[in-house]
Amino acid sequence: MAVRFIEDLDISGKRTFIRVDFNVPMDKGQIVDDTRVRAALPTIRHAVSRGARVILASHLGRPRGKVNESMRLEAVGAKLAELLELEIIASNECVGDGVRKLAQDLRDGQILLLENLRFHEGETKNDPAFAEKLARVAEIYINDAFGTAHRAHASTQGMVSHFKEKGAGYLVRKELRFLGETLREPKRPFVALLGGAKVSDKIGVISSLLSKADSVIIGGAMAYTFLKARGDSVGRSLVEADRLRVAREVLDSLGDRKVDLLLPVDHVVADDMDAAEGQVVEHIPDGKMGLDIGPETVKLYAERIASARTVFWNGPMGVFEKDPFAAGTMAMARALADSKAVSVVGGGDSAAALQKSGLADKVSHISTGGGASLEFVEGKDLPGIVALEV
Ligand code: AMP
Repeated sequence: MAVRFIEDLDISGKRTFIRVDFNVPMDKGQIVDDTRVRAALPTIRHAVSRGARVILASHLGRPRGKVNESMRLEAVGAKLAELLELEIIASNECVGDGVRKLAQDLRDGQILLLENLRFHEGETKNDPAFAEKLARVAEIYINDAFGTAHRAHASTQGMVSHFKEKGAGYLVRKELRFLGETLREPKRPFVALLGGAKVSDKIGVISSLLSKADSVIIGGAMAYTFLKARGDSVGRSLVEADRLRVAREVLDSLGDRKVDLLLPVDHVVADDMDAAEGQVVEHIPDGKMGLDIGPETVKLYAERIASARTVFWNGPMGVFEKDPFAAGTMAMARALADSKAVSVVGGGDSAAALQKSGLADKVSHISTGGGASLEFVEGKDLPGIVALEV
């Protein structure tokens, strides 16, 4: 099964529905970070240059099936018009007669932006009638919203079956290339660096990477569930009691595998996350919480990353939002930036840490989809991608 690419489709003069991800962070009607709008530009520019009649659709926030004035796409439309230096025709609906009329009146190269898809509950419920209404206005379907590709929603899956002509935009193609092709056949050594809060969120991806990677490096709160499972003292560090068994199973399985699993050898501890400073320890005393990886661990992990030819990173090494506990995560961002490996970062907090350290342009690819990238790396089918297959 293959996914076609927008460049391979004859979109000239055709009403082309492009599912984009304009789910930008907003504050009091203003866009806080326009990265996602910018990320959609190559596909939109291409469609316009080919003379397609472009219909853009996205969700924004979680309005739960009702109109929410603070979640209208108006500000996104204005930003888009500014970036493209083109007029954007905005609709205050995403389905219905008004939208149909606007779509029919589009001329080649014009852009229509539909209103927030999630103002209708049919979007997240993947309601067939809603999907059919969305599909009705266009002749060609393009998905360029990787961040929602792991959701089977009307605009990512339900409506797609109504189209013979369908394909991926530039952003989705880039994601498939890096998360798919690069990680499926990685140049070795392949090192996976995983952090963040919960084993429960990441156990799938850990298990999958244990059979693909040469080294799996664990940091963040997640490490404490593994350390406790191994019998180490972890004080009051975050531990998922109900994941101790699965952590123990992972540790027990290592003898049969060719992979190295690295856990922290020292820690930055404090009484709680609000402490003004931390203390470096090898063993976590009773009453203290591990809130970052320590300097010896940083050295060990950075060396491993330096020797890699492919690195995948998801999740911070500590409570990086607070300065006293950010050093471990920042050091990993630096290690990734300094390495010559193909480096793929799986969205969310790791991407934020890279931005914060000013090193974002030093990695090969930062995924726009946190959850979607993890599910893809784990080997799960993403409904939004499967729907594009021909
Ligand atoms: P996740 O969404 O699973 O990637 O988790 C990210 C969150 O994990 C961030 O908000 C971090 O502050 C938090 N985190 C990372 N390390 C720790 C730790 N040692 N203790 C508590 N929270 C942590």
